[in-house]
Amino acid sequence: MEKGLLIVLSGPSGVGKGTVCTALRPKMKDLTYSISATTRSPRPGEVDGINYFFKSKEEFQSMIQQDELLEWAEYVGNFYGTPAPFVRETLDKGKDIILEIEVQGALKVKEKFPEGIFIFLIPPSLNELENRIVGRGTETSESIQNRMSAAREELSMMQNYDYVVVNDEIELACARIQSIIAAEHCRRERV
Ligand code: 5GP
Repeated sequence: MEKGLLIVLSGPSGVGKGTVCTALRPKMKDLTYSISATTRSPRPGEVDGINYFFKSKEEFQSMIQQDELLEWAEYVGNFYGTPAPFVRETLDKGKDIILEIEVQGALKVKEKFPEGIFIFLIPPSLNELENRIVGRGTETSESIQNRMSAAREELSMMQNYDYVVVNDEIELACARIQSIIAAEHCRRERV
């Protein structure tokens, strides 16, 4: 059986990855959503096994040692990781799965699944920032330097991705992601 597609949605913090993923759910009912393990505490309304698998640090360490995680990363003092068996089982069943993870983890997934589809979500303000730095340079030199170095960092991350999606409006971002997945299916038909 043909394997499903592994889709990774990543991008800078605060760009709205979670919001876009939530908005995709009713639109892409055939898509499976990976549930991560984390050591952070649940936020109000979050449910274990639905939003995350909430783990103690010891439990998380044991998952790492048992090689149960496809990737993991430390992010603002907490650990996050993708349980590997669920991802592999879903792909083996021929179903597509999406991982919504931060950039370090996405790079690790790419090492293991170079055939995956890597989508980088950016805020529209990054484009404005880029244009301003490259085109005008009206800021103080210190400000330009800081902005350029931040922008460079973001841009260099983008090079590792197959697609860049601007999250200017949730509905539009979802439509772009749906188009990417549809196009990738057409590409695979050819092989
Ligand atoms: P939050 O605490 O706001 O739910 O998530 C913080 C960050 O962790 C977000 O950027 C989110 O995409 C990322 N994240 C969630 N699950 C995983 C995971 O399994 N692996 C990695 N590397 N990052 C994750």
